[in-house]
Amino acid sequence: MTAQLLRGAPVATGLRREIAEGISRLRALGGGPPVLATLAVGEVPAAAAYRAAITRTAGRIGIEHIPRSLPPDTSPDALVGALAELNGDDRVTGVLVLLPLPPHLPARLLLETLSPLKDVDGITPTNVGRLHLGLPSLRPSTPQGGLEILDFYRIDPAHMDAVIVGRSNVVGQPLASLLLQRHATVTICHRQTSDLAAFTRRADLLAVAAGRPGLITGAMVKPGAVVLDFGVNIVDGAIRGDVDFESVVRVAGAITPVPGGTGPVTALVLMRNTVAAGFAVRAGDLDHVALAELSAGPRL
Ligand code: ADP
Repeated sequence: MTAQLLRGAPVATGLRREIAEGISRLRALGGGPPVLATLAVGEVPAAAAYRAAITRTAGRIGIEHIPRSLPPDTSPDALVGALAELNGDDRVTGVLVLLPLPPHLPARLLLETLSPLKDVDGITPTNVGRLHLGLPSLRPSTPQGGLEILDFYRIDPAHMDAVIVGRSNVVGQPLASLLLQRHATVTICHRQTSDLAAFTRRADLLAVAAGRPGLITGAMVKPGAVVLDFGVNIVDGAIRGDVDFESVVRVAGAITPVPGGTGPVTALVLMRNTVAAGFAVRAGDLDHVALAELSAGPRL
C-alpha cells in the first residue's frame, strides 16, 4: 500500500479564487490593487529563489510585487529606516523581509519595526500574540498552508496526536497553535529532543519543518499517519523535503510530496495574506483580516 498524495495544486486553485474575490472587494471599496514589498538585505541564494517565485505568483493573480534590496553592510538604522518607509507608504499593503538577515542585524529590529497591519508572514509580536490568543491575525503562511491542505482533503486534526518536528517562529510554533485551536493534542520536537523517533512513531499527524533532508524515515512513522513535509532542501540540484519520501510513502496514510505539496500552497497563502493586509491597512486594525473568505477553519 502507498499513501494518498496530498498535492498542493488543487488547494491552490481555491486560494486563487479567494484572492481574486478579495481583490475585487478591495477595489469596490475604492482601493488600489494589493502591493507586496519584499525587502532583502544582501544576497541569500534560497531567498532569491523564493523572491523569484513570489514575482511569478504575484504577477499571475493581480498583486503588484515591489522588490527592494539593501546592501549586505546595511546598518541597523538604515534597516529601520527602510522598514519605516514601507510602513508609511500608503500604496504598500504587505511587507515581507527575506530571512535570514546578515548576522550584524538583530531580528528584533525587524520584529519591532514592521507594522503588524502589513506583516504578511505574521512574525511581529502583535500577530504572534493574537494568533496564540485565537484572535484574528495575519498568520505565518507556511503553517497556515498546512491547515489549508488538511481542510481541502477533509482531514480533521481534532483528537489526533499531532507531532511537530521543528520549533521555529515561522513554522513549528505557529503550527502548534493552529493545531491546538483545531483540537489536536500537540507535541513539539526539536534539536534537543532526546528520542525523536519515540515521538514521531506515535503521531497520527506528523508535521516536519526541520531543514534536514531525509530526517524522517519510514521506520519513524506510525502506519496510516498523515505526514506534512514543510522541508525545502536543495540536494544535488533537486528539491527534497525533510521526509524520506520513498520509505515513508509506504507506511503513511497520506503525505505531501516535495515538490508539489506544501510549497505551492504557502506561496498563495502569502498572497492571500497580502489581500487580507489590504483590508487591515484600510481599516487600521487587525480585526478586519477576519473576513470569512480570508480565514480558514473554525476558531476557538
Ligand atoms: P524552519 O524555517 O524550516 O522552521 P529553522 O532552521 O528555523 O527551520 O528551524 C529548524 C528547526 O528544526 C529547529 O527548531 C530545530 O530544533 C529543528 N531540528 C533541526 N534538526 C533536527 C533534528 N535532527 N531533530 C529534531 N529537530 C531538529
